[in-house]
Amino acid sequence: MSRIGFIGIGNMGAPMACNLNNAGHEVVAYDLLQENLDQIAARGVKIADSPAAAVAGADVLFTMLPGGSQVESVYLSHVFRVAKPGTLMIDCSTIDIESCRTVHDAAASYRFPMVDAPVSGGVSGATAGSLTFMAGGEQESVSSALPLLEILGKNIVHCGAPGTGQAAKICNNMMLGIQMASVAEAFVLSERLGLDAGKLFEVASTSSGQCWSLTSYCPVPGLVEASPANNNYEPGFASALMLKDMNLALEAAEIFGAKLKLAKLAASLYSSYFDTGVIGHRKMTHSGQNY
Ligand code: NAD
Repeated sequence: MSRIGFIGIGNMGAPMACNLNNAGHEVVAYDLLQENLDQIAARGVKIADSPAAAVAGADVLFTMLPGGSQVESVYLSHVFRVAKPGTLMIDCSTIDIESCRTVHDAAASYRFPMVDAPVSGGVSGATAGSLTFMAGGEQESVSSALPLLEILGKNIVHCGAPGTGQAAKICNNMMLGIQMASVAEAFVLSERLGLDAGKLFEVASTSSGQCWSLTSYCPVPGLVEASPANNNYEPGFASALMLKDMNLALEAAEIFGAKLKLAKLAASLYSSYFDTGVIGHRKMTHSGQNY
């Protein structure tokens, strides 16, 4: 059994840390918010009073943080200087490619094995231990991470070199962001054309329009039991996180030279929810660091 440090005990990190702890590992958790730590302590996880205390003596460190700036700050200012030699670093946050590469490069210079392992599956997947992991890193590092990732997820894909886990996550969620908009518009058009929403669902869910946004996240109530539409549109995967991920795709496209016309359009739609006050929210930065 391993001693595991876990930094970032939010909606996703808390159930993940609990699952590792319940599997018999000794988990020591840290978060900026004391109330998050109190909740996890009540579920048997040890808590630390600083990031350094969480990582000190750990065999493995997990991080599940909001964005790239937090990940850079935690690793560069706190983790690398105090971790014991050989500690395996696993960052599960969704972050921009540049921050991911910066932290990987620093880990390599300190000779720490590191894996970027962003996830898909949301809070329900984190709780059920059924996440999908997109892992980027050297083969040896990913192999070492595998037994722990298998506690937390059902589908673990080694995407390639350091940073490719984030690349897969950004591309996947860019597809999701565009698809959600297309599905919503199809239901608006069908209504105007006098076509029953249930009939459109029946046809499209078994035809070429079929996609996750339709069959798992259908925006019309009464058609997919677990969809937020059946829960008064409560998140779920919040629009703020969708906008963050679309902006990560646009940022990467700008830096690495890809033309993303549809992603740009979809991002402007999500952004307009905030600008028009349809969703009153904290302001987003370009990298979604502040959602
Ligand atoms: P969250 O805001 O609930 O949790 C983030 C936690 O990090 C918070 O508790 C916050 O206090 C803590 N934190 C921030 N800065 C810190 C610091 N410097 N030191 C220690 N703790 C710090 O967010 P979440 O929903 O758990 O998402 C975490 C990551 O997972 C994000 O990158 C998100 O994009 C990704 N993700 C989320 C979902 C989802 O459905 N929520 C799905 C897939 C991926």
